[in-house]
Amino acid sequence: MSRSYQPDRRHLLLAGAVGAAGISFPAMAAGQELSPTPECRDEHDATPRQSEGPFFKPKSPQRADLREPATKGRMFELSGVVLTRNCRPVPGALVDLWHADESGDYDNRGFRYRGHQLADAQGRYRFRTIEPAVYPGRTRHYHVKVQAPNRPILTTQLYFPDEAGNARDGMFRRELLMRVASAGEGLAGRFDFVLDMR
Ligand code: FE
Repeated sequence: MSRSYQPDRRHLLLAGAVGAAGISFPAMAAGQELSPTPECRDEHDATPRQSEGPFFKPKSPQRADLREPATKGRMFELSGVVLTRNCRPVPGALVDLWHADESGDYDNRGFRYRGHQLADAQGRYRFRTIEPAVYPGRTRHYHVKVQAPNRPILTTQLYFPDEAGNARDGMFRRELLMRVASAGEGLAGRFDFVLDMR
């Protein structure tokens, strides 16, 4: 992975934000901290929008841990920062996550693998969940909605690197790839959202 960017103040701040978030996975302790996605610069492009899909449900519970007891899904910690196009953090941004379960099914009756949280004072969010299974017609993905207070909602999807299905899925976009590293028994993924605001 290229890390040739200038170590300017903003990147140092982002790196510091990750450290302060208390990521305790072995991969992180070994110095393989996940770098920001994207590396934000002034006037950065906003995170691309994608369709909501058929399985969004409003009023998900406010929670950071979506893991179900006795799930056979692979553990996945998804974290990152919500930023403006000028790379400023967005405290209190809503981040709503929903995804398929370990069998590729969505829970349309209840709220399994659905939850939302508010970014902290540094714009950080973090979910503990599982890696969703693939289902027919799509590559592996998470669905998310992100909203700064009193601003329009960004609806999009996040993708996994090194998935054979990415090349076959017309929805797939490289700009929506998470950075993923192994972390103990599971995986840690990072994605920084850039909202279309300054
Ligand atoms: Fe989906």
